[in-house]
Amino acid sequence: ASGYSLLRDPQYNKGLAFTHQERDSHYLRGLLPPAVMNQELQEKKLMNSIRQYQVPLQKYMAMMDLQERNQRLFYKLLVDNVEELLPVVYTPTVGEACQKYGSIFRRSQGLYISLNEKGKILEVLKNWPERSIQVIVVTDGERILGLGDLGCQGMGIPVGKLALYTALGGLRPSACLPVTIDVGTNNEELLKNEFYIGLRQKRATGQEYADLLHEFMTAVKQNYGEKVLVQFEDFANHNAFELLAKYGTTHLVFNDDIQGTASVVLAGVVAALNLIGGSLAEHKFLFLGAGEAGTGIAELIALEISKRTKIPLEETRKRIWLVDSKGLIVSSRKDSLQHFKQPWAHEHEPVKDLLSAVKAIKPTVLIGSSGVGRTFTKEVIEAVSSYNEKPLVLALSNPTSQSECTAEEAYTWSQGRAIFASGSPFDPVEYNGKVYVPGQSNNAYIFPGLGLGLVISGAIRVHDDMLLAASEALAGQVSKENYEMGLIYPPFSNIRKISAHIAANVAAKAYELGLATRLPRPANLVKYAESCMYTPNYRSYR
Ligand code: NAP
Ligand code: MN
Repeated sequence: ASGYSLLRDPQYNKGLAFTHQERDSHYLRGLLPPAVMNQELQEKKLMNSIRQYQVPLQKYMAMMDLQERNQRLFYKLLVDNVEELLPVVYTPTVGEACQKYGSIFRRSQGLYISLNEKGKILEVLKNWPERSIQVIVVTDGERILGLGDLGCQGMGIPVGKLALYTALGGLRPSACLPVTIDVGTNNEELLKNEFYIGLRQKRATGQEYADLLHEFMTAVKQNYGEKVLVQFEDFANHNAFELLAKYGTTHLVFNDDIQGTASVVLAGVVAALNLIGGSLAEHKFLFLGAGEAGTGIAELIALEISKRTKIPLEETRKRIWLVDSKGLIVSSRKDSLQHFKQPWAHEHEPVKDLLSAVKAIKPTVLIGSSGVGRTFTKEVIEAVSSYNEKPLVLALSNPTSQSECTAEEAYTWSQGRAIFASGSPFDPVEYNGKVYVPGQSNNAYIFPGLGLGLVISGAIRVHDDMLLAASEALAGQVSKENYEMGLIYPPFSNIRKISAHIAANVAAKAYELGLATRLPRPANLVKYAESCMYTPNYRSYR
């Protein structure tokens, strides 16, 4: 290849890091200024310039430009500065990026499969330059974070999730494929926006929707085989549960909002027992929000309690209560409830709002998963703190604007007693002279390691026990030091080590369940997982 095309290809480009020798042997002489700069110096330069941007979206755009220009340097920055850059390429900034995706769109970063491609999806997959794909993250853009229907502009989410698959979980970038299915949008503002990049029509539903998804799922298996992982992301719940059930028996599929969130929250709750005391079975849980996240988490907690105590699932579910937009989910509402809410309709008189539900149920653990911000009011936090020495409060809704409360509010209103974590990050808070460090309860802890575990074991199906295995591995990574600071998650700075442990535990479960196809089983799965992980250091071209 010509030197010029080497500089234009983000997979190979190293910019000024090409040595004089490489410049000679690859026809790069004169195409670069004389200075040679190593990757560390390039990293320093870029971090300096990114830190100068005041506006988060500018940081995001700088990172996306870098990804398009020099992939290894992009991942080097992300791996080395994960705590600083996660909020840039992921929640909260990715939310704003999706809202403005049309205006900031430069280069396509994934596959767009719209109703126009109906009947041709296999050909579309073949248009993608990479052949051996291991992970696909796919959205239809209907429930992007807590921001609602962003249609085709939801693409920012698969792109961001897959960047984390590589940076946090060590999957090769070339093995990752972001996909957006565009069946239209019901977002009037976007439909009117001149820069909107998607189909200008209302969402297709029913058979038309199901057919397009089926064609996609069939083409994926045909083109990439049985071991490609398909992660469903940010689908509205009326489709999410159905797709997971429908393809869970024929494909390697995983819904991050239902299952990844469940696994990460279970890990946080189990870890929190070290701080709040009691066994998992002794706690009482109340959720605000009974959708994918809420019912997914509730089900995995109930399953774990059932495994630990041998009490049947139907019984352990009774420790868990959920509130939706119509109030507490109770048995008298059963006939009008969506199927995923049915298991949670316990005997109780109707309760209209969250505050009354808190007072009636007296939970020890309060979890926000409604996508609506500012719902954990002063009264709610005070109520849950009035009969709990240390209430566990998880404000999971993303992005930051939708968080149920801020870290500062949780600490202040509970007089410093709440153990708090949130979906999007908050800075440490000083209250009464003491510094409180809030944790981030985000599925980014789980999906990269889970995906790696599935890929390295050659798993062909996802099983609930793998979610429990991932959760157990994550909780096991919380150190005494972390606990002393009130943290229920380890810091993201250790995420690659954490991911290797999660991957190993998940792979072990895949072998145990007979769902692994990579044989023989490696003896040391942690070492094996680590050895499989992509590292973004430059390679030399000889
Ligand atoms: P979803 O399936 O649409 O569920 C939302 C639930 O909240 C529904 O049960 C809905 O009630 C309820 N709700 C909406 N407005 C409400 C209100 N004003 N009062 C009480 N309940 C209300 O959404 P999801 O997938 O579960 O996601 C919800 C949020 O969780 C989003 O912000 C998302 O970003 C966040 N999330 C975070 C993580 C993480 O890792 N931290 C992972 C996944 C999702 P009805 O059923 O009555 O409509
Ligand atoms: Mn999501």
